Amino acid sequence: MVNIYEKYDIAGLEKAINEHNTFVLTCHVNADGDALGSTLGLQQVLTNMGKKCSVIVPDLPPTNLSWIPGFKTTHAYERETEVCDALIEESDCIFIMDYNSHSRTLKLGEKLASLDKGSKYWVMIDHHLDPVEKTDVLISNHEASATCEVVFDCLRNSSLKEYIDVTAASCLYTGIMTDTGGLSYNSSNPDLYILVAELLRYGFDKNAIHDKIFNNKSVRRLKLLAASLKKMTVIEGTNVAFIPLSKSILDQYHYMTGDTEGFVNVPLQAKNIVCSILLMDRPDGVKASLRSKGDFSVSDFASKYYGGGGHFNASGATLHMPFDEAVEKITKDMKEYYLQYFPEKKQ
Ligand code: 5GP
Ligand code: MN
Repeated sequence: MVNIYEKYDIAGLEKAINEHNTFVLTCHVNADGDALGSTLGLQQVLTNMGKKCSVIVPDLPPTNLSWIPGFKTTHAYERETEVCDALIEESDCIFIMDYNSHSRTLKLGEKLASLDKGSKYWVMIDHHLDPVEKTDVLISNHEASATCEVVFDCLRNSSLKEYIDVTAASCLYTGIMTDTGGLSYNSSNPDLYILVAELLRYGFDKNAIHDKIFNNKSVRRLKLLAASLKKMTVIEGTNVAFIPLSKSILDQYHYMTGDTEGFVNVPLQAKNIVCSILLMDRPDGVKASLRSKGDFSVSDFASKYYGGGGHFNASGATLHMPFDEAVEKITKDMKEYYLQYFPEKKQ
């Protein structure tokens, strides 16, 4: 059996890091535990090496993850555009982490796309299907549980291993736990547990991290969850759960970024539900989050109907239309898609 890391361009990663001095690490919009864990974990390692390194996130990072080490050092492009532009200009190496297309980073993506490609050294580390941007070094494995898994697997098998410390390890562990729901899905590869064991040896407080990830919700957020479940329906003729969250509901519960993280997974607790859709009315469009069980692909659905994407069992897309229209459209589209997959359900 070939070790997974042998498929990674570790020599390329070492060259990118050793031969450059000023780094910008970027992640996707609506940063999650993996996006922040992978960028902040690598930032810690680069800082330990004496390199200059900044983490730029497209929009404000969710406050429920504010305990991740380094959170306060992140720069949100939408809030600090000038500072971020200066950091990008002075950098000689840019990392694209936990995403694979500039379209996933809003205005930050427009800035990155506008740069003269040859003026920077580009590295992508990711675990989404079908990398879009061409980079000097590409390390992408859609079978990995998290970008943090890929980062750690590369670092521990490289000459940079000595720069991993307890702080970096805790960031990388966080991303693996959030992207697998605490090792409950997308985590069947036995080798992942060897990586997790190795991370734990750095000595951070694992239980405290779990508490902060899973038992850190506000009462307001739990009430929003209750209201969301009340809104849940099952799309007629399918086993697909659907939760539409209009602007008025979000306003009623004083919605803040990150509040609905994980909500879309809850309907999958129902025995027969194979797919769950959460639709939210956001200022930049109607955001759809999709999750599925087994071999029903939601990345296909998101990309085919809305130009979105993600992973086989976890995907997303933005619909640019009024919320009511989006509710109608996604219900109709999912019915059609579902019946193609389960033709026996056709009446
Ligand atoms: P979430 O539902 O958590 O926003 O996203 C689930 C997965 O789908 C994540 O891996 C995320 O990166 C991806 N994703 C979400 N929205 C989009 C989108 O609009 N386009 C693409 N390509 N991927 C998305
Ligand atoms: Mn991820």
